[in-house]
Order: sequence, then C-alpha cells, then structure tokens
Amino acid sequence: MSAPALRPAPLDVARVREDFPVLHQQVRGRPLVYLDNAATAQKPRVVIEALSRYYERDNANIHRGVHALSERATEAYEGARERLRRFLNAADRREIVFVRGTTEAINLVAQSFGRGLLGPGDEVVLTQLEHHSNIVPWQLLERERGVRLRVAPVLDDGSVDLEALLGLLGPRTRLVAVAHVSNALGTVLPVRRIVEAAHAVGARVLLDGAQAAPHLPVDVQALGCDFYCLSGHKLYGPTGIGVLYARLELLEAMPPWQGGGDMIRTVSFAGSTFADPPHKFEAGTPHIAGAIGLAAAADYLEGLGMERIRAHEEALLAYATEAVGSVPGLRLVGTAPEKAGILSFVLEGVHPHDIGTILDHEGVAVRAGHHCAMPVMERFGLAATVRASFGLYNTREEVDALVAALHRVREIFG
Ligand code: PLP
Repeated sequence: MSAPALRPAPLDVARVREDFPVLHQQVRGRPLVYLDNAATAQKPRVVIEALSRYYERDNANIHRGVHALSERATEAYEGARERLRRFLNAADRREIVFVRGTTEAINLVAQSFGRGLLGPGDEVVLTQLEHHSNIVPWQLLERERGVRLRVAPVLDDGSVDLEALLGLLGPRTRLVAVAHVSNALGTVLPVRRIVEAAHAVGARVLLDGAQAAPHLPVDVQALGCDFYCLSGHKLYGPTGIGVLYARLELLEAMPPWQGGGDMIRTVSFAGSTFADPPHKFEAGTPHIAGAIGLAAAADYLEGLGMERIRAHEEALLAYATEAVGSVPGLRLVGTAPEKAGILSFVLEGVHPHDIGTILDHEGVAVRAGHHCAMPVMERFGLAATVRASFGLYNTREEVDALVAALHRVREIFG
C-alpha cells in the first residue's frame, strides 16, 4: 500500500495576522475587516522593513554607479529579480522584467510584441471577463495595426465558454490573452488547456495573473504560457512594481517599447543599439525599492507556502459562499466550479454602492462597482456588484462579520 499523501499543516492565521500591522485597528468604532484584497492586499512587516532598510542603508541608483551604495542597490535589485524568477519558477532570471504592475506588463506586450510583430488581419483572442487592462491595450492595437480582436463568451455560472474559445482559434490567431483568475467573478480559467490549444495553432499565450498569483502556486514552466503578468501590490508587496514574465526568445525578438537610459548598449545620432533582455525593457530608473519589497513579499509567501495559502482561502471561500446564502435576496454573480478568493454578489432592491457604504460603517471594507470589467457586468445585465475578496489573513469570524453586516443592510432596506 502506498503511503497517504502528506497534507501541509494548515495556515496558522492568528499567527499570520500578527505580521500585518494595518489589520490591528478600529474603523468607525469597529475592528477592521479588510475584504478588499483583490483591489490591493495589505503588507506584512517584512515588506515594510525591507523598504525602509533599503532607504535607510542602501539607497543609490543602480547599474551605473561605481560606489559601494550603488553596488549594494544593484545587487539587491538584481537579487530581487532572481527571487521573482524562483517564485514563478521561470527558467532564467532574464525572463523577469520589472514593470509598474499588470497594466504596464500587458501594455508592454501590446506595444512591443503587438506593434512589432503583429499586423493587419492577425487575431488576438480574449474573453468576455477580462479586466479593462487586458482589453483596452488590444483595442489600441486594433486601431493602430488592424489587428482583429475575437472574444470568447462567458457562461451563466461565470465560466468561460471553453468550446467557443477553442472554436475561435485558427491560423490567424497570434495571441490568446486571458485572465488566470477573473477579478470580477473569481473564476479560475482552464489555462493549461487554453495554452495547449493555442500552441497547437502556433499562437502565443499571455496570462493576466493579477488575481491568481496571490492565491495559487504559479509555475510558468508548468503552465507553458509565453507571458505572465502580475502586480506586486496585490501580492502583499508595494504599489508601483510588478512583473512581466516572458520567454527569453520572445524578449530577444521583441523591439523595445520605451527608450531611455539603461535600455541601451550604445547611443549615437547615427543610431543606437539596445541592451539585452530584461534591461532592454526597463528604460529609466526603475522602482528599486519596490522590486526589493516585492522580493520580500515573495519570500514571505514562499515561507508560508502557496499550497497552504490556497487551502486556507479555498476553505474560507466555501464557508463564505454558504454563509451569505442566509441573507434574503442575495444573489451570487459567478458560481463557477473552480474559483479563487472572490465573492461577487448583488442584493435585491439595494444598490451595491449603498451596501458598500453600510458595510463600511460596520467596519467591513469591500468593493462595489464594475471592478474595471464592464463587459462581463454587461453580460450579467448589471452595472455593479459588491465584491468581497479574501486574502491569506482573513478568518471565518470576519466572514461572520460580513454576513452580520449584510443582515443589517437587509434590516435597513427591508
Ligand atoms: N488584471 C486583473 C485581473 C486585475 O484584477 C487588475 C487589477 O485589479 C489588473 C489587471 C490591473 O492591475 P494593476 O492596476 O495593478 O496594474
């Protein structure tokens, strides 16, 4: 008989909460219940300390300096690249490009891969549930380059219609750009299947991992994707920093998208030559402290274990999904079989913004709106939903506080 698979010990959430100073405060006279993690996550002390340590001891510009501080800053910045490589299991640290966040990562791909390598009639396949930052950059390209956008529909439960998506793939498909996890509905997309099918027609695949990387272990080699984008601030790291992972051969073939210092090899008025990846795509002084803070966040998450985080959040989402069922007139938007981190809902007869305001008075922070995903809202005939989104430090007691506050909304609105 084979030994039973060892399950990782559950996350010690009470312990973990001690690492997040911001969580320990009262808001409007109530203990803060922070359920807006999909918008941005709170930062553990190790990240805050990594930022201040850098500014207190090492601050200098990187790559060009000949003095000790510059050497230290360069080492820390390039070390952060290696730590992000490991976090995503990329094959080579040159495949890690530091950017401002997911939005910039996708715009980089659209402006460089798209503008440089795509032309009229080439097709980019998206889905109806994409965040605006994975729609608008492609629309700009459509206008500029005559690229054609094809959009896979979403089913009633918030899953992507996979058959329809596969049916859109063909000889003109150059890129499939889809979310790994939907920020509006929480749906986890069958990305491996999509990568396989896209590669079978010779297309590249970009995964928008903004909402996946904080919740699931991400292994870009196992996923087989060509591009993977994430935002540091949703991953318990600083704002203004993120990662574009791209296969080295693609980065080598792609033209630069922004020009300036650090991305060149030589400059003359006769013409300039460019640095090798990833520096070719990092013009100007980057967010050095941000990269160092993000590396600290990646270390922190690795220390806790992404599998344990996933297990904790899955259990919490299941608990919350059931618990909100007790609120009369509440309807979940997005009930796909595989979801991560997000509970989107509407309450009959009450505007989502009113719900958000009342919850805030109860100390519960959620988001109300279209979540920068207007096409999928329209798909469900809605202008907005309320979105409670969970992070590794959230607890069942906090879900209970959310549900109690929703009952309070019901009392007020009848
Ligand atoms: N993609 C998804 C799925 C998101 O949820 C977000 C942010 O909410 C983004 C992209 C854009 O991320 P950022 O604003 O950090 O660039």
